[in-house]
Amino acid sequence: MSFEVRQAGIKGFGIFARHRIARGSRILSERPLLLVKHNEINILGAASRLSKAELDTLLALSVNKAKRDSVWNLVDVLFQSAQLPLSKKGRRSIRQKRDILACFYNNNFALSVSLSHRDDGVTTTAAARGVFPTIARLNHSCIPNAQGNFNRNVDEGSFTIHALREIAAGEEITVSYLHDELASHEERQHWLHQVYGFWCQCGICSGGDEAHRSHRRRERLRDELSRAFAPNTPLLSDSLGLSGPSNVAGAGDGAKMDFEKSQRLVNLTIETYEQEGLVGAELASLYGVAASLADSAGDHGEAMRLGARSMELERDATGEDSPLYQMRRRSFENLQFDQAGSSLSRFAAAPPKAQSSEDDNALSYAPWT
Ligand SMILES: [Zn+2]
Repeated sequence: MSFEVRQAGIKGFGIFARHRIARGSRILSERPLLLVKHNEINILGAASRLSKAELDTLLALSVNKAKRDSVWNLVDVLFQSAQLPLSKKGRRSIRQKRDILACFYNNNFALSVSLSHRDDGVTTTAAARGVFPTIARLNHSCIPNAQGNFNRNVDEGSFTIHALREIAAGEEITVSYLHDELASHEERQHWLHQVYGFWCQCGICSGGDEAHRSHRRRERLRDELSRAFAPNTPLLSDSLGLSGPSNVAGAGDGAKMDFEKSQRLVNLTIETYEQEGLVGAELASLYGVAASLADSAGDHGEAMRLGARSMELERDATGEDSPLYQMRRRSFENLQFDQAGSSLSRFAAAPPKAQSSEDDNALSYAPWT
C-alpha cells in the first residue's frame, strides 16, 4: 500500500503517503460500508443491517459533536427510531442511534447508483449516499493533493482516490470537502465549521502571503463574474466592454461579443484554478467548456489543445477505467473525427459535478442534512 492511516495531531486521524506517489495514481479504492438510498429516509433502518464489526467501524469515525447534540439531530433520532419496524426497534439504545446518525452525517459521500427496490419487487434507480471507512479518514485541504470519485467499473462500484499531483513520502493526502472550490476564505471557514466542526488551517487559510494572494485572485474572478451576471444586463457583452472580430458564423454583433466574453470568463476561471493550484475533474470540465467554445469559434487547433488537456486532467482524477474519463475521451475522439470530415464539431462538456445528481458518478462531500 502506498499510504498509512495514523494520527494527524489536532485533526485526529489522517492518511499519509508511505512513499512518493506519482500524479494520476490510484491511491485507494473502497466499497461502501453503509449505503443509504436517497429516498430511504431511515438511516437507522439501513444501519440495522450492519454486523457488530461493521457497526464498530462506523462508530469509530469522527463526528461533529455540536451537530450530534443539536436539538435537530436528537429529534431526528426520535423520528427515525419511531419509524423502525417492530422487530428492529429495541435492538439499539437511543444513545447508540444518536451516534450512528452523527457518524453517517459527518462521513457520507453522495453518489448515485442503480439499486433495485426489493420491498415491493419494483426495480428503481435511486441516488444514494455511502460511508467509506478508510476514505473517511482523509482530511480536508482547500488546495487538496488528491480527489475522490465514484467509479461503477471498479469492484462493482467503489469510491476511488487519485493523486492530483506528485505527493512526497510522508506528506498528508488530502481532499476537498467544499462544494465551491473557489469560495472565499469566510465562506469556506463558515461552511467547514458549521458542517464538520473544524476551522481549516491549510496554506491559504492560515494568513500570510499565500493566503493574501489567493484572496485577491478569488475576489477578482468573483467581481468579473458578478459584473457579467448583474441584473438588467441584456447581453453578457454589455457588462465588459469587449469587442472585436469573431468567427461565430451567422451571429449578430451582440451575440458575437457575448460569445467572446463567455470565452474570456471561462479562460479567467481556468487561470484562477491553475494559479490556485486546483486541479481535478472540475478543471477538466472547465477545459471541456473552453474546447467547445474554441471549436464553435472555428479555432480547431485551440479546441484540440484544450480538449486534450481536459482528457488528461480527467484521467489523472478518475482513471482510465472511469466512465467519466471514457465519456470525455469519446468527446475528444468525436472532435478529431469531425475535424477530419467537416468544420462542424463539438466537444461536449461534462456537466459540473455538483449538479450532476443523476449521473452515475456524481460526487459531493456534503453531508445529507
Ligand atoms: Zn483551507
